[in-house]
Amino acid sequence: MPYQVRAAVAAEKGAPVEVRTIVVPDPGPGEVVVAVQACGVCHTDLHYREGAIGDGFPYLLGHEAAGTVEAVGDGVTDLEPGDYVVLAWRAPCGACRSCRRGRPWYCFDSRTAASPMTLLDGTPLGNALGIGAFAEKTLVAAGQAVRVDPAARPEAAGLIGCGVMAGYGAAVHTGGVGRGDSVAVIGCGGVGDAAIAGACLNGAMKVIAVDVDDRKLDRAERFGATHTVNSRGTDAVEAVRALTDGHGVDIAIDAVGRPETFRQAFYMRDHAGLLVQVGVPGPEARIELPLLDVFSRGGAVKSSWYGDCLPSRDFPFLVDQYLYGLLDLNAFVSETIALDQVEAAFTTMRRGEVLRSVVVL
Ligand SMILES: [Zn+2]
Ligand SMILES: [Zn+2]
Repeated sequence: MPYQVRAAVAAEKGAPVEVRTIVVPDPGPGEVVVAVQACGVCHTDLHYREGAIGDGFPYLLGHEAAGTVEAVGDGVTDLEPGDYVVLAWRAPCGACRSCRRGRPWYCFDSRTAASPMTLLDGTPLGNALGIGAFAEKTLVAAGQAVRVDPAARPEAAGLIGCGVMAGYGAAVHTGGVGRGDSVAVIGCGGVGDAAIAGACLNGAMKVIAVDVDDRKLDRAERFGATHTVNSRGTDAVEAVRALTDGHGVDIAIDAVGRPETFRQAFYMRDHAGLLVQVGVPGPEARIELPLLDVFSRGGAVKSSWYGDCLPSRDFPFLVDQYLYGLLDLNAFVSETIALDQVEAAFTTMRRGEVLRSVVVL
């Protein structure tokens, strides 16, 4: 029997999110229905509702979620009802050219559920990042539901599904931060702070947080930043050089995604340093650099998609680091809210007042 549940839906471009009753189909082959317990509010949800990602309205928002498996479809052998899972928006297919070459984090054919969830009148819902978890129940491909230790509270564990994984992975996977490295992170929201935490866990010697907001810099210190730079009144590149004996950092992470922060990250690197771009730029953003500087400064520029993560490998590991007291996921949870407060949470998020508002269902 299909489920009728409450969900937060963006009906049309720019319209406030509203709570509607939706229909969640029974799981088909290779699919599972998950009873969502908690789901974080991410900037990407706001981008969907503003029409910046697609025009597949109405959208079911929400994609940073943890919950328990409610029902499994045919052929699902590694999950059963009651399993505690974190949802992923990457579920490698195992068959595309990247998966076959042993690089499933670049999968071109990530799995999602085949049949859509709908409004009561049958209108199909687009689902944010192939998930849609601001709902009491949601339908996903089995590979999107990653089993983790149920001792982790869902408000914290769900955040691994997007922002925390993106930031942590930008530092640890894409950036390859290791013992003794110096790292700068520009933009200290949820993704930037997770990059700081990841860099610290992997043995970085110096982790410099750069932001224009002193409140965010204070929070960054809680995640392990050893130094902070407020770039509102200071040249960030000069400040980072001054903190690194005039050299610059080994790895500069742009967690903002604007031309000016990209340029700062590019020039605050040491000789042959690495720039990791994890902040998602807008479609109009352009960058112009002297090609001679690209050549003569050496190193590399890499973008980090979802922290180059492999959810089945990384989610349980991050949850364990949380449970061992190494990764403070609770510090990302600024507030817990109800399903009908998503729109209000967008306003709070825009003001930069929170790292994450988390809907508890
Ligand atoms: Zn693939
Ligand atoms: Zn997200």
